[in-house]
Amino acid sequence: MEIINKSIKELNELLIKKEIKAVELLEEFLKRIEQYDKKINSFITISKEEAYQTAREVDKLLEKKEQINLISGIPIGIKDNICTKNIKTTCASKMLSNFIPPYDATVIKKIKEQKGIIIGKTNLDEFAMGSSTETSYFGVTKNPFNYECIAGGSSGGSAAAVSARFVPYTLGSDTGGSIRQPAALCGVSGLKPSYGLVSRYGLIAYASSLDQIGPIAKSAEDCAILLDVIAGKDEFDSTSVNFKKDNYLAKINGDIKGIKIGIPREFFQEGLNDEIKINIENTIKFFEKEGGIIKDISLTMNEYVVATYYILAPAEASSNLARYDGVKYGYRTEKYENLIDMYEKTRAEGFGNEVKRRIMLGTYTLSAGYYDAYYKKAQQVRSLIRNELIKKFEEVDVIIAPTTPTPAFKIGEKINNPLEMYLFDIYTLSVNLAGICAISIPCGFTKDNLPCGLQIIGNAFEEAKILKLAHYFQQQTDYHKKIPFLK
Ligand code: GLN
Repeated sequence: MEIINKSIKELNELLIKKEIKAVELLEEFLKRIEQYDKKINSFITISKEEAYQTAREVDKLLEKKEQINLISGIPIGIKDNICTKNIKTTCASKMLSNFIPPYDATVIKKIKEQKGIIIGKTNLDEFAMGSSTETSYFGVTKNPFNYECIAGGSSGGSAAAVSARFVPYTLGSDTGGSIRQPAALCGVSGLKPSYGLVSRYGLIAYASSLDQIGPIAKSAEDCAILLDVIAGKDEFDSTSVNFKKDNYLAKINGDIKGIKIGIPREFFQEGLNDEIKINIENTIKFFEKEGGIIKDISLTMNEYVVATYYILAPAEASSNLARYDGVKYGYRTEKYENLIDMYEKTRAEGFGNEVKRRIMLGTYTLSAGYYDAYYKKAQQVRSLIRNELIKKFEEVDVIIAPTTPTPAFKIGEKINNPLEMYLFDIYTLSVNLAGICAISIPCGFTKDNLPCGLQIIGNAFEEAKILKLAHYFQQQTDYHKKIPFLK
C-alpha cells in the first residue's frame, strides 16, 4: 500500500479501518528516513523508542475500538528549537548539543495528549537565525529536489522532511519567514500563525516579539488539522491570546466567489525571479477566473522591512541569548581561569558565527548612545509598517505575494555574504513585524524542477480565510503532490 503520499485524513481512516497499524505506519516512515536522510540531513535526532511506545498505545486503543483523534498514531517531526521532555533539543547549536529538556513545550503537550507520534527533531539554522539551514552545528540540510541547493531556513529540516515524505507533517517556527520560506523552496505548505494564536512556551526564544510556532505539511488541509491541535490561549505564555478559535478544518471548504485579493505592486518589481513571477501571475488569473476580485494595492513601507527587522530581531536575540553562560545549563568550556574567563570561552566556543554576529549587532543597537538612533527608530518604523499593512485589510480580504525572490539557491552561494542572505527575506518579514498570518503554498516549478512558492497573507486571526483560499487552489491543482526523486 502506498502510504507516504497520503493525507492526514486518509491515514486516520486507514488506522480506524484497521488496514494498517500505527506501529506499521511508523516503521514505513522510519524506513524511508533510514534510506534517504543520510544525504538530506533533515533530522538531528530520531526518537524511536518514544515513537514506538506511543504507536503501541494507539494500536491498543484501536483494538479496544476506542475513539482516536485525527492526529493519533501519525508521525510528526519537530523543529529542534521546540522543547521535548527527555528528547535532546539542540537548537542546532554546540551550546545546546547535549541539552535534554525536563519539560514539554505546550504545543508538544497538546500533540501528545492526542497521541500524535513524535518521530524526531529536525534540523535548523543555529538558534533559528538564517535563511538556508547552513548555519546548523549539525551540518547543512539539502533540498530534496536538488541536493546541491539549500532547503531554505531556518526550518529547513522540517520542510525538507515533509518534501521528502519522511513524515506527513512537522512543526516549524517563524520569526521572519522561517516556516514559509523553506516550505516554498521545498514545494510544501507552511503556515505562520498570527502572533499570539499559538503558545510559545517551550519554544527556545530567538526574537520574542516575532516568534511563532506553526505547521508545515503537504497541503493546507493538513496544516489546518495541526493548527486546530496547537492553537489557543496558554497560561504559560502571557502573549498568547484568548482567541480560540475557528475550527480551521471545518471552515476550509467552500467557494471563493467575491473574495477580494490584493496584489502589492512593489512585490512584483525588480528582484523577483521571472519563473516565480509567471507562476504567481497564473495563480492570480486562476483565482480571478474562480470569482476572486483582484485589486492592485501598494505597500510602500516594504522597502524598510529588512533594515527594521535586522535591527529588532538581533536586539531581542542578544538579550534572549544572554542566558547561555555555561552556568545553568548547556555547554561549558573545559579550561578557564575565573568566572569571566569561563563566560567568555563558553560563549566563544559554544556559538557559531552567525549567532555571534547577531549578538554583536543587537548589543550595539541597544547600547547607550545608539539606542535612540537604531532600536527606538526601528520600533517606530515597525509601527508604520504594521499600520500600512493592517489598513489594507479594510480594502481586501487577503494579499497574494511571492514567498522568496528566487528559487532555492546553491549551497554556499550566500553564506559569506550576510547582507545578501538577509535580503532573501524581503517578502516574508512584514508579516512578522505586523503580527499577522500567512501561508506559503507551492504554485509551480522552474524549468530546472525547483519549486516556486506564493504567500497568501491574512489579517490577524484570519487563518481560516487564507487556509480556505489555499485549499481551494490545491483542490484544483497538483503542484503540492509533486514528490522529489530521492537518491
Ligand atoms: N531569516 C530570518 C533570520 O535569520 C528569519 C529566521 C526565522 O524566521 N527564524 O532572522
